[in-house]
Amino acid sequence: MLKKILIANRGEIAVRIIRACRELNIRTVAIYSEQDKDALHTQMADEAVCVGGPLSKDSYLNMTNILSACVLTGCEGIHPGFGFLSENPKFAKMCRECNIKFIGPDYETIELMGDKARAREIMKKANVPVVPGYEGEILSYDHALDLAKNIGFPLMIKAAAGGGGKGIRIVRDIKEFKHNFEAAKLEAKACFGEDKVYIEKFIENPRHIEFQILADEYNKVVHLGERECSMQRNNQKVLEEAPSIFLNDNLREKMGKVAVKAAEAVDYKNAGTIEFLVDDSGEFYFMEMNTRIQVEHPITEMVTNIDIVKEQLKIASGMKMEINQEDIKISGHAIECRINAEDPKNNFRPCPGVITELYTPSGLGVRVDSAIYCGYEIPPYYDSMIGKLITFGDDRENAIIKMKRALDEFAIGGVTTNIDFQYEILEHEDFINGNYNTSFIENKLVNNNA
Ligand code: ADP
Ligand code: ADP
Ligand code: MG
Repeated sequence: MLKKILIANRGEIAVRIIRACRELNIRTVAIYSEQDKDALHTQMADEAVCVGGPLSKDSYLNMTNILSACVLTGCEGIHPGFGFLSENPKFAKMCRECNIKFIGPDYETIELMGDKARAREIMKKANVPVVPGYEGEILSYDHALDLAKNIGFPLMIKAAAGGGGKGIRIVRDIKEFKHNFEAAKLEAKACFGEDKVYIEKFIENPRHIEFQILADEYNKVVHLGERECSMQRNNQKVLEEAPSIFLNDNLREKMGKVAVKAAEAVDYKNAGTIEFLVDDSGEFYFMEMNTRIQVEHPITEMVTNIDIVKEQLKIASGMKMEINQEDIKISGHAIECRINAEDPKNNFRPCPGVITELYTPSGLGVRVDSAIYCGYEIPPYYDSMIGKLITFGDDRENAIIKMKRALDEFAIGGVTTNIDFQYEILEHEDFINGNYNTSFIENKLVNNNA
């Protein structure tokens, strides 16, 4: 087993990883920015090293400083969490060159899947169904227009290097294509450093359903079932649940097998996620693979009773995975609400500031993954997600009852949060009936909320 690792992240996920390390007797080194010297992850780790200024580019994305901190503190590995450097193949490669174990897949895999157009190409070759579209090189605007006509409208132009719901444009009409195509390329270049885009058919009112994968370093791949992530705003998840109410056992089994096949096609190692879109008729399409731990991993942990972060650490230590596919049983139902410091009544504007009061819910079936405390100042420099509230019940109805009870108890003073907004989702008839897709918030909530 690895003896000491560095955690190249902050916030709740850094704390989550420290907790897993403690239980496995692995020593931890936190990194922090000048802004984060009093952050919970900085205080909780066995050691902590300041790696730069408040801006992410100076600290949490500062590869040389992070690697130096790793070497100087004698760490054998780095856990990248999500966001920041977690899907950066250059960083994973530098780790390998420095003889540091990157806790994730090989950098070659990250590179392949990080280019979402290449990923489509590879999946097609492996007979994994992908959203109809075009992933090859786009030679000119006229070429793009021809492709668009072939694919048909509405369609999506997506940045090949995109992530976090950014770099995606819907084009409903051919008249809007030119403007959107040019803007998408400029945006991709500005956000992700390259202007490569690809075109996909827009699937109307789809469900986003993803499968959690675990793979060890000896070619064993299993899936831990699915997560329903259709509750989104601006292509970003807001609330997730497991299992999905939309899948029957037949479709679930079929998709699970395809997810494993997709991971095998890229010789996948460690934890990863295959994201699918599912249309009304139950047709499903590969959308992308996330080569890291996912924000919503706790709901899978609750229904499988498997600690995914611990599995990541064991796999990275070179241990053979003990879990077999037939041992994995999904029981009960789990829901996660992302708790963000933002103002839903003000176009979800981020609301950094000092937390002046805090009461965190608990009790049977309630889990809070967060890094906040009373007196903590939420900085303006990073993501507005400050925690995750997860509930577990023996069925969906009970998980919902618990979530409403827990949201009710959750008291965060001093900053505005989306807690009431989450409550509104839970009370909506269509959510209660499981009758929702990725356009639910836009069509049924935000308009009513304005
Ligand atoms: P998940 O797929 O695990 O649900 P999200 O898409 O919500 O995760 O992203 C997780 C975190 O990583 C968020 O903080 C998001 O802003 C960030 N993130 C993900 N991909 C990128 C990217 N390519 N560039 C910048 N940030 C990203
Ligand atoms: P990211 O890398 O930012 O997570 P994804 O490719 O996973 O980007 O897409 C994010 C979200 O955008 C999806 O969960 C889905 O809601 C929506 N989306 C993406 N592609 C399509 C599509 N072809 N049709 C309809 N919705 C889509
Ligand atoms: Mg995605």
